[in-house]
Amino acid sequence: MSGQPGHTPIVVAEPRLMRDTILAACRAGRRIGFVPTMGALHAGHASLVEQAAAECDDVVVSIFVNPKQFGPREDLARYPRTLPADLALVGAKGATWVFVPEPSTAYPAGHATSVVVAAPAADFEGAIRPGHFAGVATVVCWLFNVVPADVAYFGAKDWQQTVVVRRMVADLAIPIAIEVCPTIREPDGLAMSSRNAYLSPEDRRRAVALHEGLTSAAERWQAGDAVAVVEKAIRAALRSRDIPVDYAQVVDTDTLLPPRPGAAAVALVAGRVGNTRLLDNIFLPPRP
Ligand code: AMP
Repeated sequence: MSGQPGHTPIVVAEPRLMRDTILAACRAGRRIGFVPTMGALHAGHASLVEQAAAECDDVVVSIFVNPKQFGPREDLARYPRTLPADLALVGAKGATWVFVPEPSTAYPAGHATSVVVAAPAADFEGAIRPGHFAGVATVVCWLFNVVPADVAYFGAKDWQQTVVVRRMVADLAIPIAIEVCPTIREPDGLAMSSRNAYLSPEDRRRAVALHEGLTSAAERWQAGDAVAVVEKAIRAALRSRDIPVDYAQVVDTDTLLPPRPGAAAVALVAGRVGNTRLLDNIFLPPRP
């Protein structure tokens, strides 16, 4: 039975077999949840699988370190890979299948197609990591074709990614619902991330500045302060711990454009803690 400690999910590497398996489950009337990941799984990923298992009859987790979303000077080769532990974790949380495609099946010889989402992918991570969101959108589009699930689960931690994926799904009429789940944090507030493993003990202590900055930004927002003041609170927190800021900005939740009066917003932050880039964000509810 799935969802029990010690349960081992069925591992599928072959895209055609994966798709046939999902289509057969759909024909049998089962509701399928899908959690795309790059592995090195932690409690943040586990929460997505739990949510999917609570809402669906079967859950597919993909584990694929997608080369196309890494820049030439990024951490593809050293990205953590922990497949045995990942399988145990998602099995315990209720995954039925784990899809582990080879890069050569996602990108066969002659592969020439790229999915480019324009506006919401242009700024923030898109500006700092050229090509990153084309890599994400291309692989997520491929995954949605190979895993024709009813609903896909993404973490709010990567807010811009959720906006880009929603845009792509809407624009290409991909028949899958997108659900965004809350960010899971360490006890001190640091958002869980596979990249936290790169932090030295000293950098790990400093990394809490992102959450601290976002928390005081949310207080300033609730107090009715101007957007520039809210953003300044984030920068100040990072500066106080010597963390260079890539961006610290309040934007509209759906478009990532400047916030609209009376609408919800999100504060996005990215900083460089030692050699590691960390991202985080906080939801800012509508205010009068
Ligand atoms: P990744 O393996 O980093 O590509 O992430 C796979 C999925 O897990 C993405 O939808 C992420 O947003 C989500 N995720 C990563 N970290 C967290 C977290 N701390 N809390 C919730 N979801 C997360």
